[in-house]
Amino acid sequence: MSTINIHPAVDNGIEPGSDGFSGGKLHCHCSDRQIEVTIATQCLHNHVCGCTKCWKPSGALFSMVAVVPRESLSVTANEDKLEVVDSSAAIQRHACKECGVHMFGRIENSDHPFHGLDFVHAELSDEKGWAAPEFAAFTSSIIESGTRPDDMDAIRGRLQELGLTPYDCLSPPLMDAIATHTAKAKGVL
Ligand SMILES: [Zn+2]
Ligand SMILES: [Zn+2]
Repeated sequence: MSTINIHPAVDNGIEPGSDGFSGGKLHCHCSDRQIEVTIATQCLHNHVCGCTKCWKPSGALFSMVAVVPRESLSVTANEDKLEVVDSSAAIQRHACKECGVHMFGRIENSDHPFHGLDFVHAELSDEKGWAAPEFAAFTSSIIESGTRPDDMDAIRGRLQELGLTPYDCLSPPLMDAIATHTAKAKGVL
């Protein structure tokens, strides 16, 4: 048993997603008047993230976050409890004012490479079949949350063991997508 708590959704092995899965509902952690977000599609690019901005369950070193097209996401209950955590951030994380859970992150800048995609935490859903996490992003950033640098070798080793290749930014396909967007905006592609 590993004592490294990457994230509860991966620590005991990763369940594969289901073919044909078509979405579900996310709920915040309140016991009363839960915020409900409905997603009408499977998620994409699911991964664990070590940045300091993503919402993490208590005790976890990483968040687990994926994207969905923004038109597939709607707030279907208790929207009045949502507030934006940091309106100056590129990704505006809409969180529950009471329990603090982030329900979705949205990019309003239409020039951003990921504009049109919302960031979501599939673990907030009771439905099974969401696409499984594929890699670890912003691994080195967990040091900014207080992880000792000496522990990083063991943590990267555990990520490899789980099949979550650790990167210190995003995965190569996503970094390529960002660079392609920038190149097209500059007219060099
Ligand atoms: Zn809540
Ligand atoms: Zn993050």
